[in-house]
Amino acid sequence: MEPGLGPVRVFLMHDDNKPRKLRYNLGHRRLLTFGGAYSNHIRAVAEAGARHGIETVGVIRGEEHLPLNPMLARAAACGMTLTYLDRATYRRKHTEEVQARLRARWGADIAILPEGGSNAAAVRGCAELPGEITVPYDVVCCPVGTGGTLAGIAAGLPDGKRALGFAVLKGAGFLEDEVARLQREAYGRTWSNWSVNLDYHFGGYAKSTPVLDAFIAKYRVEGVYVAKMLYGILDLARQGAFPAGTRIVAVVTGRPQPVGP
Ligand SMILES: *Cc1c(COP(=O)(O)O)cnc(C)c1O
Repeated sequence: MEPGLGPVRVFLMHDDNKPRKLRYNLGHRRLLTFGGAYSNHIRAVAEAGARHGIETVGVIRGEEHLPLNPMLARAAACGMTLTYLDRATYRRKHTEEVQARLRARWGADIAILPEGGSNAAAVRGCAELPGEITVPYDVVCCPVGTGGTLAGIAAGLPDGKRALGFAVLKGAGFLEDEVARLQREAYGRTWSNWSVNLDYHFGGYAKSTPVLDAFIAKYRVEGVYVAKMLYGILDLARQGAFPAGTRIVAVVTGRPQPVGP
């Protein structure tokens, strides 16, 4: 097919990717992980811990604010122990030094999951997603934070299909290496059937612009991840970036959005 401005079809596939990333990470008795105060990942770990009888510790960036916001209140209600790291230390959370300190405090036997939950087991969980797509398609699109979801989707694609991720962070050039690193960690190899678009971050993580705000209001989609991907897909389609007739599956990540009045 020739590139052009012909019709592109976009199918929406709802998928809560955080539990999917955790599926193969639940073989531990005790689990420690990291997140910001509004982290979907922290909540998903707390809920999975409650469901599977795993003791969980959530290391939260910054200072404690009481009362807890709804996200952290939910995590605490699931039995997660919340602890806080100042921002400077938090930035170094994945270093040996900080992890040794955390192990000294929380026990040498505690399994440590990276922020956002992206590790080899998470990639293997996300690789199951393409097998659940029920329509004919050419490209799978997803929003990208830490890259684990994209790494897994690409690894799980049948031959001839492609994955396209939309970075929601500003300055996310590191994702090229990071997605490949995650695939290598999970499978000992990389794939070349994916790419990351860096042009639709709208100012950075959880940032927005009037244009994106209007898009969110019009389509009533989640604003941190999903809106940026969908805006990107529609904008690229308008520019003729996809061959005419391309069938796109857009993965609408996260929980179903409550549709308000
Ligand atoms: C975490 C998250 C993502 C990004 O997943 P990564 O594997 O970190 O790239 C996308 N959408 C939602 C709703 C998320 O919570």
